[in-house]
Amino acid sequence: MDNAPGKKMLESAQALIRKTAEKMKLDEEMIKRVIEPEFAHEFSLTVTMDNGKKKVFRGWRIQHNSALGPYKGGIRFHPETVREEVQALATLMSIKCAVAGLPYGGGKGGITVDPKKLSKTELERLSRAFAARITHVIGEDVDVPAPDVNTTPEIMSWMIDEYQKIKGYKSPATFTGKPVSIGGSLGRTEATGRGGLFVLQALLEKIKGSMPKFSSLTIAVQGFGNVGYYFAKLAHEAGFKVVAISDSRGGVYDKDGLDPVAVLAYKKKKGVVSGYSSKKITNEELLTLPVDILVPAALENVVSEKNAAKVKAKVILEMANGPLTEEAYLFLSKKGVVIIPDVLANSGGVTVSYLEWVQGKAGYWWSESEVNQKLKEMIVRAFESIWEKSVTKKMPLKQAAFEVAIERITSAMV
Ligand code: NAD
Repeated sequence: MDNAPGKKMLESAQALIRKTAEKMKLDEEMIKRVIEPEFAHEFSLTVTMDNGKKKVFRGWRIQHNSALGPYKGGIRFHPETVREEVQALATLMSIKCAVAGLPYGGGKGGITVDPKKLSKTELERLSRAFAARITHVIGEDVDVPAPDVNTTPEIMSWMIDEYQKIKGYKSPATFTGKPVSIGGSLGRTEATGRGGLFVLQALLEKIKGSMPKFSSLTIAVQGFGNVGYYFAKLAHEAGFKVVAISDSRGGVYDKDGLDPVAVLAYKKKKGVVSGYSSKKITNEELLTLPVDILVPAALENVVSEKNAAKVKAKVILEMANGPLTEEAYLFLSKKGVVIIPDVLANSGGVTVSYLEWVQGKAGYWWSESEVNQKLKEMIVRAFESIWEKSVTKKMPLKQAAFEVAIERITSAMV
């Protein structure tokens, strides 16, 4: 397994924390405490395949920092997942939870596997084996896993079932991202896109002197999955003009605006979004369109030193994790582009996971509008503290977010 991309991801997450912590003048031992994971569980999983043969998989649960509360983070099933990647993602979860103002530390889990090559019964046996392996190190007040790349609410239902069978009691707050029928939260599906819109609106309120009116602002959205679709739909409903949308096979552009619901209906019929309108564009073209707001909501590193100079948007909302390379980020920030960092922009998902956890612990059952209202209050509060730090210390939002997170984590360390 080539672990170079995972290593690079870990190195850059750690370098960012170190750089921020050094500027904050933290001592070396404190920096180490913020960087090093508290626990790194690595294990093998043996699964009986449908042909009767046994197969061994490698898995991890890395618990990075618990100063602010139980570890929180998803479980990823991917053929290129390696330990370093899981550790990097666990580290970034500590930062994200602190930025979002949640009473959580950061954790992440993963298995090196291509789930598309497994039958459904093999996938269930693998998920149950993983849950059994981590049962003794998780719990509602210890570590609360959730879905991530290639893991679904159904997989969470198998995992929590396995966990509860071993424990011998119900514990709905131990996993989030569950199906609603077993204690999942209403509003979770749309939460990441909805949270991104709340943050964008809060930012525009602050910079309205330098931007045109909301209703005439144009947006380009790359990626039309869970995050991209709900963001585009809700932005359109809020009165923004969503002029471009793309998926992995290309995109569409209409300067008069697109209706994301109609684009989704087209995609369901034809399998792609391009072709919905006469103006087809590539993913590369989408990133450099003359729009006010660019929303990368698909993959990491899509804006790099190769295309950053061509980006015309005045605001970039990082809905995907890490869509800008470090070089592109530095270039665009210097140019005056306002970049809302991923740790804040896409924290709506983990915020509603927190609301699911609270409901599970307390036996509450909130309506969708209650969940949306609480999400709005929490994510706007998170934005406000980062905005304030960025204004008072004259630093970009990303640097401010890391500083706020590290301050919160270190002040909770005894
Ligand atoms: P998804 O699998 O539902 O959708 C991904 C979308 O990206 C699809 O429309 C796909 O066609 C598109 N895509 C894939 N390759 C592409 C390419 N080369 N160019 C353009 N589009 C491409 O995934 P998602 O849950 O929407 O997640 C998207 C991003 O948001 C990821 O970076 C993820 O880590 C991040 N994120 C998701 C959540 C969540 O709650 N789902 C929370 C936080 C962060």
